[in-house]
Amino acid sequence: MMKCEKYVPKKINHLIKSKDTLIRISLLILLIFPKNYIKGQSKIDSLNRNLTITAVGDIMFGTNFPSKKYLPKNENCIPLIENVQDFFNQTDIIFGNLEGCISDDAPARKRCNDPTKCYLYRMPKKFGNCLKYAGFNLISLANNHTWDFGEKGVEDTKSILDSLKINYAGLDYKPYAIFNVNEDQKIGFCSFAPNYRTPSLLNIEKATNIVKKLSKTCEIVIVSFHGGGEGSKYQNVTRKTEYCYGENRGNVYEFSHAMIDAGADVVIGHGPHVTRAIDIYKDKFIAYSLGNFCTYGRFKLSGVNGIAPILQLEISETGKFISGKIIPIKQTNGGYVNVDSEKKAIKKIQELTNLNFPNHSIIIDNNGNIRKK
Ligand SMILES: [Zn+2]
Repeated sequence: MMKCEKYVPKKINHLIKSKDTLIRISLLILLIFPKNYIKGQSKIDSLNRNLTITAVGDIMFGTNFPSKKYLPKNENCIPLIENVQDFFNQTDIIFGNLEGCISDDAPARKRCNDPTKCYLYRMPKKFGNCLKYAGFNLISLANNHTWDFGEKGVEDTKSILDSLKINYAGLDYKPYAIFNVNEDQKIGFCSFAPNYRTPSLLNIEKATNIVKKLSKTCEIVIVSFHGGGEGSKYQNVTRKTEYCYGENRGNVYEFSHAMIDAGADVVIGHGPHVTRAIDIYKDKFIAYSLGNFCTYGRFKLSGVNGIAPILQLEISETGKFISGKIIPIKQTNGGYVNVDSEKKAIKKIQELTNLNFPNHSIIIDNNGNIRKK
């Protein structure tokens, strides 16, 4: 199997554990070296507080409802992602959209006359370990499956994520999360969808207020959304309101731009189950859909539905896009994730970005490296 070259973000900030340590080092330098020797060198100004992010789209490791036959072999989710494990655990933030609840026994919220045709997703509690194994520290719950198993399903999911110390948001009563990385870098995260009991993607005014509030108290604000139509007919960012299965799935272009206008630094989309274009607006990065990352069992994975990026980004301490990398992956055998030697996800993002945003200011090379023109 051909492997992509690994993206190793600059992690200078890991070398400097805290401001306190830095102040102590600075004082030591002042004591050791004459004042004029260090004149003009501001050690504190050169402190690298860039933030590195790994982001993937939909995650559903297999469902124990309506039957355990929809779980991966030996009820083990590790083999689904172990071939791409190397690309995780390298960045400050590791993000994904959890497309379903985590519970062993919560009852279905929707009545199913024919369970084989009901697409309700309930991952066994032990599958939380796969999120930890990949190193996820940020999860979006704003989607059309988190509430498949009602209050109990959501409570079980929350308790698993809490026990694994994974940050999350995207519930009507928990629209955002605030947490620290690199000890003292404050991150705000909020997540939206047009679905039941999620912070609404359709109420841009309310979403704007959340982002404005977060941007006042946090250094970096990450916004996630689950929106747009689903499937191969919905690969394009239309700049219009999208309808799918009779539902309003939002105008993801208008939403993303409004979030950045309100203070968001990165916008990460998912929901269409296919990969979409990327763009930079006011120096801030937008991914319109990261597609299916690991969606085992009851998902269509043929054609464009089976390819997706693992996206890695580096942004400045003020949220400006610096560089990125697309690691192209594909799912085979119902949901096993591998690096795609044909690099289809890179080609798809190049094609869609050129088509949907002809005046874009991004260079995506054939190895998936992303930079500004
Ligand atoms: Zn969905």
